[in-house]
Parts: sequence; structure tokens; C-alpha cells
Amino acid sequence: MTLSSIPLATADLQIAAGGRRNSTLLCSPVMGESVDQMLSQIRKAKEQGADLVEVRLDFLKNFSPKQDLEILLKQSPLPTLVTYRPKWEGGQYEGDDSRRLDTLRLALESGADYVDVELQVAHEFFSSIHGKKPEKVKIIVSSHNYENTPSSEELGNLVARIQATGADIVKIATTALDISDCARIFQVLAHSQVPTIAIAMEERGLISRILAPKFGGFLTFGAIEAGVVSAPGQPSIKDLLDLYNLRQIGPDTKVHGVIGKPIGHSKSPHLYNAAFKSVNFNGIYLPLLVDSVANFVNAYSSPDFVGYSYTIPHKEDGLRCCDEVDPIAKAIGAISQMIRRPTDGKLIGYNVDYLGAIAAIEEALRASNGASPTTGSPLAGKLFVVIGAGGAGKALAYGGMEKGARVVVANRTYEKAKELASKVGGQAITLAELEDFHPEDGMVLANTTSVGMKPNVDLTPLSKNALSRYCLVFDAIYTPKLTRLLREAQECGAIPVYGTEMFINQAFVQFERFTGYPAPKQLIRDTLAKNT
Ligand code: NAP
Repeated sequence: MTLSSIPLATADLQIAAGGRRNSTLLCSPVMGESVDQMLSQIRKAKEQGADLVEVRLDFLKNFSPKQDLEILLKQSPLPTLVTYRPKWEGGQYEGDDSRRLDTLRLALESGADYVDVELQVAHEFFSSIHGKKPEKVKIIVSSHNYENTPSSEELGNLVARIQATGADIVKIATTALDISDCARIFQVLAHSQVPTIAIAMEERGLISRILAPKFGGFLTFGAIEAGVVSAPGQPSIKDLLDLYNLRQIGPDTKVHGVIGKPIGHSKSPHLYNAAFKSVNFNGIYLPLLVDSVANFVNAYSSPDFVGYSYTIPHKEDGLRCCDEVDPIAKAIGAISQMIRRPTDGKLIGYNVDYLGAIAAIEEALRASNGASPTTGSPLAGKLFVVIGAGGAGKALAYGGMEKGARVVVANRTYEKAKELASKVGGQAITLAELEDFHPEDGMVLANTTSVGMKPNVDLTPLSKNALSRYCLVFDAIYTPKLTRLLREAQECGAIPVYGTEMFINQAFVQFERFTGYPAPKQLIRDTLAKNT
């Protein structure tokens, strides 16, 4: 079956019937070492929802062009893009280039739907076919840059050079050294006059692959198996379709995401994308691996980049990049959410971390005391020990102060503990002092450091011996849900309060601010439970 065998109008109808907001194709690279492996991968790609496959001939061992191409192209249940990538352009083929180009010509005549030719040999290839090719076959002229993403001007020149070869489709793949590089890739797509594939490779380029449909990219690549990729940073078909709802992304889709470094572990894209979908909100939520918040907000200043959650280590930098900051976030000195105000495009910072954590702690204390939610805060008058003085530490310390608790801050960098304690009218101690800190029984402990977070699940910020002095222990970490600290606290008789509760409570608030809709609370709880 071929894409071009479907009349365009029918193809459009199918897209509309399938509820797609874009016509960007999802292409899965197949890299089998034998024809049988290739065909089995093509079948898997089809099952998973790919629109076409890129047959990477350079991965075949003992390749007999005439015989193997005939089988592959005739038996493929999906349209085919044939690529025979040489070593000098990042592929596997090391042989003679004229033999390689002969094979590409053969693919052209043997039923391929698309043939990829590298820019460096495009003129030679086009003159060798004397303008003759089956009408249905489209030639993609490609350029790969494994070093960086050039300036907008250089990219513009590159696109013009590719177009000048007579390419039906332009392809440029660059390397993202910073997430802001993807903005130049989006510019290329937005301004292109011919069908264009433009992608920035590597983890920092991920958003260029996911947002290709928003900017009119001709296709984007998705791997059959997560991690088994033909180029660095390629997401899986499954993630593109199920996690990022690729088919629903349109030119007017609003972009959101979580800004952090690292960010690959974040569960937030699972939560928010599922929640957006459940209320039919035309938005996407991405993991944003950001090195510099200032570079990021400068590069993505268009009205469609509307809202972000902030996580380690950018909550404080995020605050510095806001046009306005809400008073609580200002007092805490860190933001956990940034929204672009639709009326004037200004970036407004909020801190919602403390709301989630404090509510979860209060609820657990009330449940243990049998107190009703109408009496004052059960934290009032309690000795409230916060380990950590970063973004989450500040949120918890301010939250505790607001509820009338007596706050104690312990931190690895003692100076920071002192600074925070003085702001909340509390006491600062060192981590060593915390081990023997026992002025009274029934204290409440909140860990806000990342000690014990995946993958370092065997670590804990406070020894088990010290835990028996606390009636309740909260851990901000939510991967894993049951940290070593919480397990040992439970063994000592303290009430454990999970970081997931903080996460869920603040997710409700963030969702409502992103969308204007009430949060689908059960769906958010279920999605988080499925993904932790
Ligand atoms: P942050 O601003 O970078 O602060 C990190 C804190 O951890 C600092 O106080 C730091 O001490 C301390 N720390 C880091 N490594 C340490 C180590 N090896 N030993 C002792 N202390 C160490 O990060 P954050 O945004 O506050 O986040 C902290 C944790 O809270 C993370 O695990 C994050 O996932 C979690 N969190 C959870 C939620 C939720 O919804 N559940 C929300 C926000 C954050 P120094 O000052 O000495 O560097």
C-alpha cells in the first residue's frame, strides 16, 4: 500500500475521521539485519500506528539490492521511505558510493514511495536520472549535522541549497546543544515553501520531534522500541501517540511543560497530557530539559508557549525570569509555576508547592487526632523540622510558618539554613545536629532534599534512630513513592506522608491555572498511580 495511491481528498477525509488535527506523518525507521527482520519490524510499526517506515538499507547484512528491494517494497504493509545512509553522513554503509546511488535509483523504480538522497550527492543523483522517475515517488534531499544547530541565517541558506537541487521534500537534521536550538528548527518549518522535515537530534531536541505537527513538519520519526533508535533523541511511536497525543497537535495547540535538569524521570507529562485530553483541552505538556531559563524564555516568547511547571534546579532562576511574581512565591524566593498572561504576554510566577504539601500533612495529622477540618491547623504550635533549604524547603518552611508551626531548618549548606530560618522566624541547625535533635516528642519532619530519590533509593537524609522522635514524617520525593525515610519512619511508629500527595495536590492547582477547567482529580490520581 502506498500513501500516494490514496487520492489526497480521501487521505484528508481519513485524517478527519480519525480525529487528527494535523497531517504530519509518523515514520518509523526499520533497521533489521535481514529482509525478514525488516518485514517483521514494519509489521510492528504498522500495529503501533506508524504511517510509513524508513527502510534503512545500510543496516542489512548480505544485501542483494535487486532481490531484497523487490521483496521489501512489495511486501511492506506500509508506504516506504528508502534510505541507504553512508558512514560519511552518519549511517552504516561503507562501500562504494556509485553502487549506493545505483541502489537508490533501483528503489525509485521498484515501488518506493520516498527515496532519501544526501545533499552532498543530490546533484549527481538528479543528473543521473535525467529528470525521469515514477511520478508517485518523492525525493527527499537530506542534510545531517551531528555537531550543532547553525544560526537561522545558515539554516535558511541550507534549506535554499536543498530546494535548489530539485528536492520534492527538504530534510534537515541538526544537533541540539540547548533546547533553544529547537526554536530555529521551528522557524525553518514555519517559513518553508516546500514540504519539510526539520528535526534537532539528542535529548535537548526532543521537543522539535514532538512539536513537528504544530509547525507543519512533513513527518516526524518514532522508534518501534523505546531506546532502539536510528538517531539520538528519537522518542518511541508509543510515546508520541499515547503520551503526547501526536495526532491531536495542531497549529493552535498551546505548549506547556516542566522545566528542569534532569527531566527525563518526570511523571508530569503523563499526568497533564492525560488530564488535558480528558477535558478536550487543546494543549500539550512536554518535558523541557533546560540549561538556562533565560535562554529558554527568550527563545520561546510566542503567545503559544503558555505555561510551565518548574523543578530542580530552576525554581529560583525561574523567579528571576518572571515579569511579575505573586507575593508568596516572592517571599519563598522560588516559583513552581509560570503562566503567560494572555492579555499582555507577561510571564507571571507562582509557588504552589507549599499548598500541596501542607494540605497533605494537615490532613494526616487531623486523621490521627480525630480533629475536624474546621478547627485550626493541627500544625499550629508544633515543632516542624524541615530538612533542605532549596525550592521545596522554602515552600515547606513558609507553609509551616503560615500555619503557626515553630519551624526548624536543617540543611547541608548551613548558611542557607540560617538564611531561611531567619526569614520564617525559626531556628537553623546543621545536619549533624539534626541526628541528636530532640527538644520534645511529637515533632513533625519534612524532607525536602533529593536524598533517597531514584536511582539512589538506598540513601536517607536522617538515620532511623532519630526518627522515633517524630509523630509524622513527610518526604517531598515522589519517585519512589515509599522512600527509605518513609519506610523507616513507619517502622518507628510515625505517620508517613508521601511526596505523591504534595505532587497531586499541587497538580490540581496547576492544572486549573493552565486550563481554566476544574482538575479531573480521580484521573490525575489514577494516572500517577499507574506511572510510579
Ligand atoms: P533544590 O532547590 O535543588 O534543593 C535541593 C536541596 O537538597 C538543597 O537544600 C540541597 O542542599 C539538598 N541536597 C541535595 N543533595 C544533597 C545531599 N546529597 N545531601 C544533603 N542535602 C542535599 O531542589 P527542590 O526543588 O527543593 O527539590 C528537592 C526535592 O523535593 C526533590 O527530590 C524533588 O523531586 C522534590 N519535590 C517534590 C515535589 C512534590 O510535589 N512532591 C515538589 C517539589 C520538589 P544544599 O543547599 O546544601 O545544596
